[in-house]
Amino acid sequence: MKKEEIIAWLKEDRAEDLRELWRRADRARRDWVGDGVHLRGLIEISNRCVRQCRYCGLRAGNRSLTRYRMAPGEILDCAREALRFGYGTVVLQAGEDPGLTREGVSEIVRGIKLETGLAVTLSLGERGLDELAEWRAAGADRYLLRFETSNAALYRRIHPPRRGREEPGRIRLLRELRRLGYETGSGVMVGIPGQTLQDLAADLELFRDLDLDMIGVGPYIPHSATPLARGGEASRKVSEDQAPNTELMTYKMVALSRLVCPRANIPSTTALATLNLESGREFGLQRGANVLMPNLTPEPYRVHYEIYPNKACLRESAADCRDCARGRIEAIGRSVGRGPGSALKRQAEG
Ligand code: SAH
Repeated sequence: MKKEEIIAWLKEDRAEDLRELWRRADRARRDWVGDGVHLRGLIEISNRCVRQCRYCGLRAGNRSLTRYRMAPGEILDCAREALRFGYGTVVLQAGEDPGLTREGVSEIVRGIKLETGLAVTLSLGERGLDELAEWRAAGADRYLLRFETSNAALYRRIHPPRRGREEPGRIRLLRELRRLGYETGSGVMVGIPGQTLQDLAADLELFRDLDLDMIGVGPYIPHSATPLARGGEASRKVSEDQAPNTELMTYKMVALSRLVCPRANIPSTTALATLNLESGREFGLQRGANVLMPNLTPEPYRVHYEIYPNKACLRESAADCRDCARGRIEAIGRSVGRGPGSALKRQAEG
């Protein structure tokens, strides 16, 4: 798909024309990855963070957040629950937390693999190559690291580097993760202040260049305890080309991601459900997505993993999330995917 065509779709607002985009994305999804919807159990293992991302509620500067880090035994209990629930994968996600040490995470990964055999996805931010290599050797299968936006100037503005450190940057890290043998996932937020439709089109091209195994896109949701949501940024003059952080723009990005990277695993995200609790997840699944990520985080911690406000399903139990996910999948005539739901092999590998 050419860039002009991508941009034309991003600008399209007529419901009857968009139906064509949804239809194409849904057909590509069915042809390439089938009707199974894979369930990835999400365990939010720590909300501690050393970074100052201007969009995220977990940022170190947010003093109003109660911080936690789950104990290894608690994480393992969640993984056992995932196995009982019939999930194929657990996703361990956290702020960038040095308290999650190289040895500590290796132990946890080894424990989960040994006891459950589930696929393990890590999403622990920008970590050292030595750590990433060791976790891979311990058995981690996949790594999720959104590049957030392909616009380098915008990225620097919302995601300041750590003082006094040389960092490879997320795009280089993604290539390293691939080299280490991880299935590699990335993605962006849709509607960041200062992000244009051209930027979103470039994001899609970067998805293609990186040949991603997993792509997660969700709307940017302002969090009042972050600088991006208050003061200067909020009162910046909104450019005419500003990408809106709407449900509709997010569906367009999901559908176009499917068309650009047809074999990728694409979740219908919680941020989408947050904008439309009633049917956001279903629309995502019908417009290109093939993955849901039911929450497994234990009750006492869940409310504190507040990357953005009013997150969907904060008060539900893990079992409620499972039942809800299954119900929604069956109601739209799809089935729960079996097995780990690994990425399809790349063309080059046959
Ligand atoms: N520390 C890890 C995990 C972060 S949370 C990391 O940085 O990779 C996972 C994702 O939540 C982020 O990559 C970002 O895309 C999304 N996110 C953070 N703040 C958000 C906000 N205000 N609105 C919408 N999505 C947000």
